[in-house]
Amino acid sequence: MAKDIRWEITINGIVQGVGFRPFIYKLAHRYLLRGFVINSSDGVRIETEGRENVLADFLKAIINEKPQQAVIISVKSKELPYAGYHSFFIRNSRHNEGFSLIAPDIAVCSECRNEITTSGRRHNYVFTNCTNCGPRFTIIEDMPYDRANTTMRNFTMCEDCRTEYENPQDRRFHAQPIACPKCGPQLFLTDKNGQELATKEEALKQATTALKEGKIVAVKGLGGFLLACDAANEQAVATLRIRKKRPHKPLAVMARSGAEIIRFCSLSNVELSLLLSPSAPIVLLNKKECSIDIATNIAPDNAYIGVMLPYTPLHYLLIEQADAPLVMTSGNLSEEPICIDNQQALERLGSIADFFLMHNRSIACGYDDSVAYVENGQTFMVRRARGYAPYPIKTAFKMPPIAAFGSNDKNTFTLTKDNLAFVSAHIGDMGYILTDNNFDNIMALYQRLFKITPQILVADKHISYGSTIKAKEKAEELKLPAIYVQHHHAHMAACMAENSLDIYEQVIGLSFDGTGIGDDGHIWGGEVLLGGYQKIKQIASLQYLPLASGDGAVLYPARLAYGYLKACGIEAAPSILDKLSSEEKDVITVQITKNINTPLSSSLGRLFDAVAALLNFNEPITYDAQAAIALEDMALKSQDQLSYGIKFNKDESDVERLDIKSILEDVLADINRHINIHDIARRLHNTVCSYALQASIIARNQSGTKKVCLSGGVFANRLLLKEIIAALSKAGFEVYTHQSLPFNDGCLSLGQAAVAAVKWQKGDF
Ligand code: ZN
Ligand code: ZN
Ligand code: FE
Repeated sequence: MAKDIRWEITINGIVQGVGFRPFIYKLAHRYLLRGFVINSSDGVRIETEGRENVLADFLKAIINEKPQQAVIISVKSKELPYAGYHSFFIRNSRHNEGFSLIAPDIAVCSECRNEITTSGRRHNYVFTNCTNCGPRFTIIEDMPYDRANTTMRNFTMCEDCRTEYENPQDRRFHAQPIACPKCGPQLFLTDKNGQELATKEEALKQATTALKEGKIVAVKGLGGFLLACDAANEQAVATLRIRKKRPHKPLAVMARSGAEIIRFCSLSNVELSLLLSPSAPIVLLNKKECSIDIATNIAPDNAYIGVMLPYTPLHYLLIEQADAPLVMTSGNLSEEPICIDNQQALERLGSIADFFLMHNRSIACGYDDSVAYVENGQTFMVRRARGYAPYPIKTAFKMPPIAAFGSNDKNTFTLTKDNLAFVSAHIGDMGYILTDNNFDNIMALYQRLFKITPQILVADKHISYGSTIKAKEKAEELKLPAIYVQHHHAHMAACMAENSLDIYEQVIGLSFDGTGIGDDGHIWGGEVLLGGYQKIKQIASLQYLPLASGDGAVLYPARLAYGYLKACGIEAAPSILDKLSSEEKDVITVQITKNINTPLSSSLGRLFDAVAALLNFNEPITYDAQAAIALEDMALKSQDQLSYGIKFNKDESDVERLDIKSILEDVLADINRHINIHDIARRLHNTVCSYALQASIIARNQSGTKKVCLSGGVFANRLLLKEIIAALSKAGFEVYTHQSLPFNDGCLSLGQAAVAAVKWQKGDF
């Protein structure tokens, strides 16, 4: 006769803070098993007794029926000597040496949303959450994920909450941030001096009144403060722009529902389900022309608006009561990290916001809203943070413990452990004290939570990147080896790693961006590479052209274009001449002819800037890629199929250089023939697309590889991304793109880590 046996089951993945233990508890009861389940630092451990076939069914059910938010990476089971348990129960957590993954914050679930809108003890209570939703990573200070290790530890559960917390049948069973109006955090409203005006529901009411009156309200959310104002009120938006010193950069909008969104943007089913997903990112949607439901100054010269749905009860109630879409933009001064602390918010945002809607639950780790878009039915990231980080990227190979310090702008870092790469959430632009400190704090937190002690440090080759300087200092301080990886190699490797390409893979890398220091000391950015993690060879790039006034050229596209034309010996067009003073023209002419402060660039980003300036873009850049975004906006208004001629000139290092002079001549000829600017913009996009294709074909002919990896900020241009993928696929290439990480420098740290890991394995440093 069959006997009962005992199994130990260990599960690794995101299994804490997602209702995993109550799920196991209920499942064990369904299968009439005995034993216990426990959270440990390395995941969840189950000991259970029953018939072997029942245990096997139980194991299958764990995998098939796991809670929606849980991610199982591995399940191991082994038999132990029979112990004779009498019931199934949940044991208290304990520490050990392993590590566990942590869930990102999860958007409010429908049950909690219903609860706050119907009468009951949590009616209108904005901190309502359950095992399926609510804050996670933003409140965790240490592992395991228990209330005592979160910023909720200061709130003592009331009797009602404790009853729910302890009842395995309740959907708040062991929900660590459980709270109610009696025992949990509270909302309050202050003026910009911190003077309290109202609390709880009254605070919410007064905040919405202020929003309706066109005021700006700083709202403390999950990962930090957001600045809110009425998104249909042109004047309020203009005021916010002036105070935030953000004249043109698009502002994100929070809408109540899909039905509200389609009044100002088009919305596909895939986009709607992304908006409604537990990660609830900002999604860049196609803007409808002439909508009266949204102010025109939300996203000027931009084909898209970033839209999100309310993801916390607070946002939900706020937007319901405000009865209109709201601007919700990061609560920071440009370049600084998002504010997370009440006092700091009053100090730093006091000149922007009229009111502060705050609460007394502290935020352990700042977290920006994630930004994504859907193209070809697929999701791509622009900024990866809330709802996604700190979930790791799985690589095809094991890595030693590495800390990769990332890029200077749009920085993220990566810490590695075996075949997991923990890419941090978006940190921001390095080289500012607050961002640099934030970087240190978050890296320390990641090291503690995931139990990683880096043995190798990696950074970009650019010696003046804030992240590189930091890595260098740390390497000296900790006496650790440091590796410096070329920027565009790191881009390519990031795309390879994200797509689980193995150590030996050889690919073609299209690393298209604005800036990165090249191996020859010039500024690269239109690179077609061939190689793998360990090394690369340049196959093709753009003709080098001088950037007049160096970094300044990035801010003034007209100066850049004038310098490009001068260097090519082309007569400048009136569209450029009119934008520059005679003094500016003289200075640039001297710089170009005498090679003063004119670094050479092969950047595609700069080519887009120059052509945008030749068309009708005429303001200094106030945010990253602004001119290129305007050019994409123009190109999207044309269906033109023509392309300018592609001519390659081989340089002394055997690199095929795309002739930019002839392209600029063609653009000018079109301008002189009064071709519509939308068509010209489109033709430039078509030209870049055929450059990508033809250079890839050259690389394929040299190597035989059909795999192409796309990386770099230029691919944030959705038109170009779509066209290049289509052209390459049609020509028989296997195209790999980023999906979890952005194409921009936010992916760089992963690539650096992957390159370092492989070099280390091969003993190549
Ligand atoms: Zn919930
Ligand atoms: Zn309570
Ligand atoms: Fe880059």
